Amino acid sequence: MRQLYIAGNWKMNKTPSEAALFAKELAEKAADAKVKVMVAPTFVCLPAVVEALKGSRVIVAAQNVNDHEGGAYTGEVSCDMLSDIGVKTVILGHSERRQYYGETDEFINAKVLFALKKGFDIVLCVGETLSERESGRLREVLGRQVKVGLSGLSAEDMAHVTIAYEPVWAIGTGKTATPADAEDAHAFIRSVVAGIFGSDVAENTIIQYGGSVKSGNVRELMAQKDIDGALVGGASLTLDQFLPIIHCVD
Ligand code: PEP
Repeated sequence: MRQLYIAGNWKMNKTPSEAALFAKELAEKAADAKVKVMVAPTFVCLPAVVEALKGSRVIVAAQNVNDHEGGAYTGEVSCDMLSDIGVKTVILGHSERRQYYGETDEFINAKVLFALKKGFDIVLCVGETLSERESGRLREVLGRQVKVGLSGLSAEDMAHVTIAYEPVWAIGTGKTATPADAEDAHAFIRSVVAGIFGSDVAENTIIQYGGSVKSGNVRELMAQKDIDGALVGGASLTLDQFLPIIHCVD
């Protein structure tokens, strides 16, 4: 039985003091949620959010990490730096990193492998653009992103990997995939995971949906067989919107 996993990706929003205030209130109000909860602040907010969430069940994740031990990588942050402040979860391959920072499947895979070696849990994002979907390339694109992103992983590694299916055209646009379209993509992703690691691993892999998830559409999405949670952007920025999402199965 897969436990629902709801994550908030704050992107480049909130100062450290705003993030800490939010996190303190979230810790209280998420205490009785039945789902697994995570928030991903920016790097500079991480120490304040870790402190604010100490003792709570809310996981703190980074939005990215470098694939080297350390050294001459200006502007980057290493796994050891994150571990040192108590962060052991990272989102990798978000479409904004693919789109604006040129991250390829191979580069994302290098980060996945390195972060796993460092004992991290990963949320690996995949998803097609509108033109890829409209030209009938949905399965080709998702298949490649999943296969290359997870290349070199063992079945045991998959216990530390969550996949987030985020159709790029639905991110921050207010457009959501229909529950049926999302379910179709999730079932396909699960079949790709089964093809690589076997059906037991695939059955246990959490696959989140992301793309304009809100309190008004979350229940219908979560009711789909292969949708095991959500990666939420805009609606994770205010408690008014995020709390009903994490309490969607209460
Ligand atoms: C995201 O950034 O991962 C996301 C899904 O954003 P939004 O919920 O705002 O569409």
